[in-house]
Amino acid sequence: KSRVLSGIMPTGDLHIGNYIGAIKNWVAMQYEHDSFFCIVNMHAITTPQDPKELYEKTREVAALYIACGVDPKVSTIFVQSHVPAHTELCWILNCIAPMGWLERMTQFKEKSKGDRERSSVGLFDYPVLQAADILLYGNVPPVPLYVPVGEDQKQHLELARDLAERFNRLFGDTLAIPEPYIPKYGARVMGLDDPTKKMSKSEKSRYHAIRLLDSPDDIRKKIARAVTDPGRDIKFDPERPGLYNLLTIYQAVTGQSEEEIEAHFEGKGYADLKRELAERLVEYLAPLQERYRDIRQDPSYLENVLAQGAERARETSAVVLNAVKKAVGLE
Ligand code: ATP
Ligand code: MG
Repeated sequence: KSRVLSGIMPTGDLHIGNYIGAIKNWVAMQYEHDSFFCIVNMHAITTPQDPKELYEKTREVAALYIACGVDPKVSTIFVQSHVPAHTELCWILNCIAPMGWLERMTQFKEKSKGDRERSSVGLFDYPVLQAADILLYGNVPPVPLYVPVGEDQKQHLELARDLAERFNRLFGDTLAIPEPYIPKYGARVMGLDDPTKKMSKSEKSRYHAIRLLDSPDDIRKKIARAVTDPGRDIKFDPERPGLYNLLTIYQAVTGQSEEEIEAHFEGKGYADLKRELAERLVEYLAPLQERYRDIRQDPSYLENVLAQGAERARETSAVVLNAVKKAVGLE
């Protein structure tokens, strides 16, 4: 059976970009593929984290996966650090990954803010650990392996493919070549305060992102404040990035087509769009937030899901890791 693997870092607060760009598609894909969703806490520590907060955020993200519709009876939900195979394969891939390839990664340039002197080696190596996360789930012999992510991860996915191909060339066919799955709409939700920047957990300004756990009031305030562009009519116009972004979010939460949405807002203005969008978002997030609170009521339920997930992920990933070690001559 084909496989799916994806993950999110337990840093900051999950926002609708993470949901629309990634989690929504996990939920849709989980019934068709054997699916693995991890909370990538080892990626989180590539930048400084408060230990208590990191531990707590890891549970929060796991609970949010489930609240968003990832079904632990169908999918494997696990914490990256519970499965040592990830760092083991990362090391082996490190030894065939050219520094030049990593130098070209734009995420490192952004996250290090150009300060190479003080950025961690882990931050530089981030894409190789991500490649290991993915490639471990390709099975032996390889099966189709899909990776549903937002557009910002495209370059890292290409690196994972290049590393798999390089490994196979050097040591014989072992690793599946993963296929990115990047949605047609909502693959790059932009910041509400600045529609030229992608919405990010690490961006701390108050009016930047709609978080999955935001209160109705916060949602209304943030949408009301969202930056828009000159022009009156409500159209999917890429030349008006603020408006385009709001319409993309509207589309994701209503499931309507561009034509339907434009027809609906014919003769209306920004104020109407913002008002309706805020209400749609509030309605959309309410049941998710209720499920989240339910899940957090019972910590033992969550710990169980994560323990079972870890076991299944360890078993599954051991197959590829063993094949890799044999191929390299380590075993
Ligand atoms: P950080 O600022 O901490 O990197 P992030 O919001 O970029 O936070 P990640 O944990 O890096 O979140 O990414 C989790 C998933 O969400 C990835 O699949 C990523 O592609 C997707 N994603 C992140 N931001 C967006 C966005 N603005 N639009 C669509 N998808 C996104
Ligand atoms: Mg990111």
